Amino acid sequence: MKSAEDNFTALKEGKPFKRCYDDVAETFRSKPTGNRVLGFVCSYCPYKLPCWGRDKLQLLPQQQSKGKNPKWVWYTSVTNPREETEEFNGG
Ligand code: SF4
Repeated sequence: MKSAEDNFTALKEGKPFKRCYDDVAETFRSKPTGNRVLGFVCSYCPYKLPCWGRDKLQLLPQQQSKGKNPKWVWYTSVTNPREETEEFNGG
């Protein structure tokens, strides 16, 4: 976590920094989805928003899940978004 703190200091001071981890290819049911997500350490890092960019990082429901309560995932890139299913509106 030391390098994460160093990065945060660099971010605060507007200095260049090197991320300590890469994002990872998302898989769903063992298949790549085409989306990219934060790895385990970054997803729990308190500096993830300034580190990855508030305009880039998105906390979204797991995009391929058809469940009612999908888990929430930090996405760095969404090229394969969730398909919206039309809900029955009673006719
Ligand atoms: S979000 Fe990840 S890469 Fe960025 S400072 Fe935290 S641990 Fe390092």
